[in-house]
Amino acid sequence: MINTSPMQKLKMIPCVKCGAMMPELRLTQYGYNYCVNCSTEKPLVARFHTTGKGEDIMTGIQIMDQNTAVRLAEMDNASSGLKENIDLEMLDYDKDESAANQTQKEGIHNTMNSEDN
Ligand SMILES: [Zn+2]
Repeated sequence: MINTSPMQKLKMIPCVKCGAMMPELRLTQYGYNYCVNCSTEKPLVARFHTTGKGEDIMTGIQIMDQNTAVRLAEMDNASSGLKENIDLEMLDYDKDESAANQTQKEGIHNTMNSEDN
């Protein structure tokens, strides 16, 4: 009789950064060789901005960490005469899903880049 407890099915490997055990899936599926604790400590921020006027309005999205986003928002607010509208959206994902969402975000990012061309 083969013992198929969940613990044995899920192979664990050590995080390269802190040495904590993490599911090997994280490396094989998502390409991260470090654990969730060593990945982005704060949720990333999607920064939407629109520039231009009339028919030439363009919308862009930037993905960055919260510190950067807050700093940029402060700068934008300081020079409030600007015609750029900033809308910060905190991406507060569950840590377990962060790897999958990171892939999604890269997809969004690529889409926006290609529109620039
Ligand atoms: Zn770690």
